Amino acid sequence: MSSKQDIIVIALGGNAILKPHEEGTAQDQMNNITETCRQLVQLLKRGHQLVLTHGNGPQVGAILLQNEAARNQVPPMPLDVCGAQSQGLIGYMFQQALRRELSRQGLSQSVSCVITQTEVDADDPAFENPTKPIGPFYSEEEAARLQQEFDFAMKEDAGRGYRRVVPSPDPRSIIERDAIAALLQQGGIVIASGGGGIPVTAEGKQLSGVEAVVDKDLAAHRLAEDAGADVLLILTDVERVMLNYGTDSEKPVSRMTVAQAKTYRDEGHFKEGSMEPKVRAGIRFVRSNPEGRAIIARLDQAVEAVDGTAGTEIIA
Ligand code: ADP
Ligand code: MG
Repeated sequence: MSSKQDIIVIALGGNAILKPHEEGTAQDQMNNITETCRQLVQLLKRGHQLVLTHGNGPQVGAILLQNEAARNQVPPMPLDVCGAQSQGLIGYMFQQALRRELSRQGLSQSVSCVITQTEVDADDPAFENPTKPIGPFYSEEEAARLQQEFDFAMKEDAGRGYRRVVPSPDPRSIIERDAIAALLQQGGIVIASGGGGIPVTAEGKQLSGVEAVVDKDLAAHRLAEDAGADVLLILTDVERVMLNYGTDSEKPVSRMTVAQAKTYRDEGHFKEGSMEPKVRAGIRFVRSNPEGRAIIARLDQAVEAVDGTAGTEIIA
């Protein structure tokens, strides 16, 4: 069981910021973030140190849509810049909400958001095969225009229209890891690698943003390893990882070894792009840190998950 001063890296799913039925006003997002922060403060009260990371799909989607709608008045920004914008907006809301919830509990840690770049390999095979849908839906004609004009890869998305797809390369390293470590060292709470971090490739000392999206759960593993975390806690919208998910024979898993997790993965129990990267991140974490704990749990059960009574724990 974790003792005081444990470092917990928490990867927050989409539902921590915006619920599926909501419109997505600033107030909606602040309300959800405030609710999330109440959970997080429970962990802080127990003396744990926290590093937070989060998804940004809906937020970056909205920014891309705004860029598109205003393209004749304001030059549209590239995806890496939109990613930075989304980190800033979400990080700011967490800075506000956490400060407020901390002070209600008589705590006073500093809260800082680090705009984070994630280094990826320029020759990652993912660049050959864009898979991650982003931004708004388009008609077939609009999709053809974007393909022609900007060389965007466009794909039909489950009968709902066309969307831009971008590569999802593997995160290699976090450029700002020393800054994150220094803030942690001082006892602060750090928000980093939002949306998986802004993917960049390095040529010597020169970094360039790339048109791609890094999976936030895999980025969370990097963050956890760099921070020397004791726990990687991936919070989402399901209570536990399931076998035969979505079928009559669905079965929750409370603990699985790395070997079991790999077998289940090979048997196709975890959906690509949703549960699979979470399990993969957990496997990577406990493999490099067998003393560490990797847990996938529902957002409102964060405390129970750390106590070992909720969620799915992956063990070495
Ligand atoms: P997040 O925003 O938290 O990353 P995702 O939608 O990416 O959320 O991942 C969580 C989703 O994964 C669940 O809502 C569920 O629909 C899906 N999922 C896929 N396979 C499984 C599984 N084996 N067990 C539980 N959930 C699964
Ligand atoms: Mg996800």
